[in-house]
Amino acid sequence: MAKGSKKDSADLQGSSLMPEIRKHYFLDEYCIIAAERRKRPSDFMRAKSPAKDEKSCPFCPGNEDMTPPSVAVYTDQGVLVDGPVKIRSWKMRVFPNLFAAMVPSPTPPTTEWIALPGHGHHEVIVDSPLHNDAPADFSQEHMELLLKAYQDRYANYCGLDGVKYVSIFKNWGEEAGASLSHTHTQLVTLPIVPPLIKRELEAASSATFCLFCNIAERERASSRLVAQNDGWILIAPFYSQVPYETWILPRRHMSNLAQMDDDDRRDLAAILSHALRCIRSLLNDPPYNYMIYQLASNYHLNIRIQPYLSKIAGFEKGTGIHINSVPPEQAAAELRSRLPKG
Ligand SMILES: [Zn+2]
Ligand SMILES: [Zn+2]
Repeated sequence: MAKGSKKDSADLQGSSLMPEIRKHYFLDEYCIIAAERRKRPSDFMRAKSPAKDEKSCPFCPGNEDMTPPSVAVYTDQGVLVDGPVKIRSWKMRVFPNLFAAMVPSPTPPTTEWIALPGHGHHEVIVDSPLHNDAPADFSQEHMELLLKAYQDRYANYCGLDGVKYVSIFKNWGEEAGASLSHTHTQLVTLPIVPPLIKRELEAASSATFCLFCNIAERERASSRLVAQNDGWILIAPFYSQVPYETWILPRRHMSNLAQMDDDDRRDLAAILSHALRCIRSLLNDPPYNYMIYQLASNYHLNIRIQPYLSKIAGFEKGTGIHINSVPPEQAAAELRSRLPKG
C-alpha cells in the first residue's frame, strides 16, 4: 500500500506538469490544470525576499537572456526577431511564457472523466522597456504601438490549426494577478471556444441584429456613457459585475482587433488611455484587469476593464451572482469627472 502510494505520487509529479483542460463532470464548463505555473517568480513579496529591481527583473532591457527567445521585438527599425544575440534596444518585446497555461506539444491528458491536452500558446508582451512605467502613463504613440502588437499577435494565431480562441488580457497589480510588477500583457490561445463566449453566441443566434451594436447605440444615449470619440465608446455597463467596471466598444461593427484600420487604432488608443487614467485618478491606482473579447468573425469586439476593489466572496462563488455596491450610473458620473478638460 505504502509502495503503491509512493509510485502514484511520482506518476502524479511526472504527468501533472503538462497543462490539461478538464471539463466539468456534466456541464459545458472547463478548468485548466497547469502545475508548472506554480514555479512563477514574483517580485511582489518584498517583505519576504529582497526587493527586485531592474537588475533582476526578467522583463527589463539587458536581462533578455532570462526569458525565452522573442517571437517579435518592436524597435525603431520595425518588428524584428532575436538572433543568436538578443536585441537589447526595444520598445516592446514578445516571447513565450516560461510558465505556460497552454503549450504547443502537450502530453496526452488524463483518461478519467473528460480532459483535453492543454494545446496552445502562451505569450508575454512586455509593454515597455521601463521597469516602473504604468499603462496609464503611456503616450498616445506608445498606446498605438501596444495595440499594433495586440493586432499582430492576434493575427498570428487567429485561424491557426487547433486555435479556437485567442485571449489577450492585462493583469495590473499583484491582487489582479500580476506576478511581476513590470508592465506586461499576456496572450493565451485555447483549443476550445470558452463557455462564456459560447453562451453569448447562443444568445445572439436568435437575434436579427448584433446585440453589441445595439448595446453601443443604447448606452451611448444613457447616463452610463463615460466618453466617446469617432470610433469608440467607453461605458459603465448596465450589467456591471464589479464597482467601476467599464467596457470599450467600437461604434462600427468589427469582430476583432485585426479588423481595425489606422484611424480605429488611434481612437482606441485614446479612449483606452482615458479609461486607465480616469480609473487611476478616481480610485488611487487600483489593481485591475482588462480583457479583450474577440473572435475571427460574427462577433462584436469588446474590451472589459475591471478594477480590483472588492474580493470575490462566498455569495459570488456560491451563486455566480456578483454584488456590486456602486451603481454604474454613479460610476460613470464619477469617472467622467476625471476626464481631461476640453
Ligand atoms: Zn523590469
Ligand atoms: Zn456589432
